[in-house]
Amino acid sequence: MEQFDYTKAIELIKAPFPPGTVQKRGDNGRAYIPNQVYTDRVEAATGSQWSREIKEVEINIPHGFVKVVARVTIGEHYRDGVGFSEIETDQNGKGKALSNKVDKAYAEAVREALDTWQIGWKDLAPFYKEAKDWGSNPALRHLLESAPSDGSNDPGPQSRGLVGHNCIFSGCGKQLSRDEWDFLGLIPSLNREKMIYCFSHIPNHIKKRAPVDVIAKYEDRIKST
Ligand SMILES: [Zn+2]
Repeated sequence: MEQFDYTKAIELIKAPFPPGTVQKRGDNGRAYIPNQVYTDRVEAATGSQWSREIKEVEINIPHGFVKVVARVTIGEHYRDGVGFSEIETDQNGKGKALSNKVDKAYAEAVREALDTWQIGWKDLAPFYKEAKDWGSNPALRHLLESAPSDGSNDPGPQSRGLVGHNCIFSGCGKQLSRDEWDFLGLIPSLNREKMIYCFSHIPNHIKKRAPVDVIAKYEDRIKST
């Protein structure tokens, strides 16, 4: 059997997608690449030498969320990702469509894990190059060099200084206040470029990682604004 070439597989995974691959979400207009495209790419790039599995599922009906930790393994290397989805309850307090919610959180977790190998970054960077977004980071400028333009103009320095982060909780989308953004920055090992929640929508298990006095301080501050 031919030796699996991890470096080559990752190069193929990171390669740009054809024009038109990036789509915009109906609710918030954010750019994304469909999961099926990722799966297809990883299949092709690794010659099926990859796997994904669920490591952990938490169904938290009182707090209204499903959390899934997924592991993606390529060759001898693995990466974990975390995905969430929101649960709605019926009048008896039972979670609705739970298996769909688990599927959705699992899909997100797999996407997060794949994201650590930079899949789709070259394609998505042009859509996230405003001052507030990761694509504008000078350390990632190389991603833009070979990437197609999305046709939009750089908003320029006037947008800098704005927080410009919107809550990812489904149905919220609220722009975070400075305090809410700062609070996320105080939660240990939280990637706040991705786990963007307004104060009232931070899943509890995440919020409680912050020191209690910090939580209390921000609770007061955010309530009074
Ligand atoms: Zn929110």
